[in-house]
Amino acid sequence: MRILLQFPQGLKMHALQEAAKFEQSGHEVFLSATACWGACDLALEEAKAIGAERLVHYGHAQFGDKPVVVRGIEIEYRLYPITVDLGVLKEALPLLKDYKKIGLVTTVSHIHQLDDMKKILAEGDPAHPHQTFTSRGGLAILEGQVLGCDSSAADKLAGKVDALLYFGGGEFHPLGIKADKPVFAVNPYARSSMQINDIIRRKQKKEQGMLIATAQAKRIGILVSTKSGQFNIHAAENAKKKLLAAGIPQVSILVTGEVDFNSLQDFNSFDAYITTACPRLVDDSERVGKPIVNLAQLPALLKMAKELKN
Ligand code: SF4
Repeated sequence: MRILLQFPQGLKMHALQEAAKFEQSGHEVFLSATACWGACDLALEEAKAIGAERLVHYGHAQFGDKPVVVRGIEIEYRLYPITVDLGVLKEALPLLKDYKKIGLVTTVSHIHQLDDMKKILAEGDPAHPHQTFTSRGGLAILEGQVLGCDSSAADKLAGKVDALLYFGGGEFHPLGIKADKPVFAVNPYARSSMQINDIIRRKQKKEQGMLIATAQAKRIGILVSTKSGQFNIHAAENAKKKLLAAGIPQVSILVTGEVDFNSLQDFNSFDAYITTACPRLVDDSERVGKPIVNLAQLPALLKMAKELKN
């Protein structure tokens, strides 16, 4: 069988060893070399171009409830569990001692360790045992899983827990949490643990500033990505109509695969952007040099733009 293997950026170093396994079984193997940041990004164009009968996308779970179906190409999401030392979670227990009920979330890489995490929270500090809750998101389909664009597995728990705990690398995932509860991040790579509500608040404040700036813009670019899980042309067209009706003089739809920040800078024409693609592009506004707001903020943006006009 002709197979295309696709790895996200952090797993590309394992591509050759995975390819060898398929080759030993007699398959013809190709590797996708384009950048891949998430489950939203299946290498469908490459698979079609080489006539692949199967696409194996590593390191992510399916994006949302509905599987992507492409005639003639079998699509498989294959998890790549990364087992980390949970000692750092034990070390973080003093930070959590005042919170009985903990909402726990992690990334797809560490979902297989969720039960061990719960055990540590329940038994690690006998003086302060925790009751742990998990939930399921929308785009993130595994119990306890969060994505940069879907923190609902944490947000949904806000009403029944005392604090939320994210376990995993980096700040990208936990900073998406919107729930109004103490949020803690335990990072097994940096071996660090901290409360991050102030950082979340700063991010939200920056986003509010970009919203106000975008409402004052004369020329807005609406970003559309052709990536499988991000393509949203109808929403972009609808947003364009509404923005023009709200009095924004110039609105253009920009279509791309990967959003290239240098390329956007070259336009040198837009005062602000709206993303219908990855919502976390807003984190990259400095790289574009312009405000970026999410499509989800369109109603607030239209309201502000109309108020400014009157
Ligand atoms: S849309 Fe963005 S945050 Fe969501 S999975 Fe894709 S790259 Fe990650």
